[in-house]
Amino acid sequence: MKRNKIIAGNWKMNLSFVEATQLTQDILAQYQNYTNQHTKVMLFVPFVYAQKVAEICAEKPNIYVGVQNMHYEKAGAFTGEISPVMLNSIGVEAVIIGHSERRTLFHEDNELLAKKVKSALEHNLIPVFCVGETLQERETNQTQSVICMQIEKGLFHLSHEEMSKIIIAYEPVWAIGTGKNATPEQAQEVHAYIRNLIATRYSTNIAQNISILYGGSMKPDNSADLLKQPDIDGGLIGGASLKAKDFIEILQSVPQSNA
Ligand code: PEP
Repeated sequence: MKRNKIIAGNWKMNLSFVEATQLTQDILAQYQNYTNQHTKVMLFVPFVYAQKVAEICAEKPNIYVGVQNMHYEKAGAFTGEISPVMLNSIGVEAVIIGHSERRTLFHEDNELLAKKVKSALEHNLIPVFCVGETLQERETNQTQSVICMQIEKGLFHLSHEEMSKIIIAYEPVWAIGTGKNATPEQAQEVHAYIRNLIATRYSTNIAQNISILYGGSMKPDNSADLLKQPDIDGGLIGGASLKAKDFIEILQSVPQSNA
């Protein structure tokens, strides 16, 4: 996907089937007023709702349905796992890889995540690759070195063509689900750093065309200022994506001059 403004919802392990269906319909009822060829919506839903949500969103423009994780193998003896081939077969188009909750709670390391990214691309799934530092890392001035390592190990095995298909989400761990967002300046600084890393390893053209989303307590009352920053191309939104009204208000706050 080329560089776009993207408002993405990460529903995490929330909602009943009925609630998930309703939320999808409520978003669909309004999102077209605020999307176009440059502004897209992505919904990262629990696996068990993905087929239904994909069916509801099928044929609708500028909206993509994804899931929050996957295994890197096509099939096999991996009890409890979901493969990219299965995701293809139910109309899923995208996948979050390396969310901090997967890294921390489920011990996913950069080597595993590198395999997942490669596999997602081989199966035409758009990977949204998450990076971010902890509070302790920020306070000890390790933000850039942590982000650099996550990106090098998670993404730098990709070819130029593969890299141009990635979306990156910068999600400072201390801002996820805490109500404490990074300031627009803090986020912009890291986004610019990430874009520069990609330009150095790949090319300015690839770096300029990659979408880098901010995630971490993005809400209707702080989204406009974050989304105004030159290197912030959108948001990956947890809590506020569970209410259609909040999610649509964030979408509405995407700066129109750049859209
Ligand atoms: C997330 O889950 O990726 C996230 C950023 O959550 P929240 O918006 O709730 O901080």
